[in-house]
Amino acid sequence: MSQNKKGLLVIFSGPSGSGKGTIMKSLLASRDDTVLSVSMTTRAPRPGEIDGYHYHFVTREEFQKTIEEDGFLEYAEYNGNFYGTPEAPIRRLLNEGKNVMLEIEVQGAEKVMDHRSDVVSIFITTPSFEELERRLRGRGTEPEEVIQGRMKTSQYELSRAFRYQYIVLNDEVEKAVDRINTIIDAEYMRYSRMENTILEVLKDVSTQ
Ligand code: ADP
Ligand code: 5GP
Repeated sequence: MSQNKKGLLVIFSGPSGSGKGTIMKSLLASRDDTVLSVSMTTRAPRPGEIDGYHYHFVTREEFQKTIEEDGFLEYAEYNGNFYGTPEAPIRRLLNEGKNVMLEIEVQGAEKVMDHRSDVVSIFITTPSFEELERRLRGRGTEPEEVIQGRMKTSQYELSRAFRYQYIVLNDEVEKAVDRINTIIDAEYMRYSRMENTILEVLKDVSTQ
């Protein structure tokens, strides 16, 4: 029986500190059908971040060159740095049947939503704004002025949450991961993906 075996393209956004990285790590460890798109960024690596794994860390010139070569599915400026999704690997991975997670901020996410009707969009939130600030500060990876900038951007991002199909509350990491698994499983049951099953059943009816 032939099925639509292409993977899902999933946007995964949320304010800085909402837990995207933490959730993604746990999700990817539990699903071998799902991969994270590795973005290009002009921001400096944080301690422990590996080039080519967490991001492709590039200069502004290299980033600009990729824009000129039309190499991004989307890109955006976020708090003074550029971030972009390289397009070529995504096409390949989706055709291989992998679900591809795009962990991207809202401007880039909205660009993808405006151009692709097949994208699944998920927005992560904390239970409160206070908890968001607590987590961002608790992570201890940004100086105060960067934290202030990110908190301001977070207000804007929360005001755009209505553009997303799904809102996932990250109160506890395991529960948030379960919620995302539920979304992925349900997306596979959409008519567009199950049409061949129905057509097979109907074929049996017509030969009876
Ligand atoms: P993001 O990738 O969205 O910026 P992180 O995954 O880095 O966020 O999480 C920010 C901080 O919050 C990290 O220190 C992480 O360990 C912590 N964190 C993530 N999820 C939870 C949770 N459900 N409860 C408490 N702390 C959390
Ligand atoms: P961070 O500096 O914390 O790693 O990322 C800052 C923000 O940029 C986060 O919201 C993250 O999801 C987003 N981001 C990471 N990669 C991309 C990308 O390729 N495109 C866009 N538009 N945003 C990205």
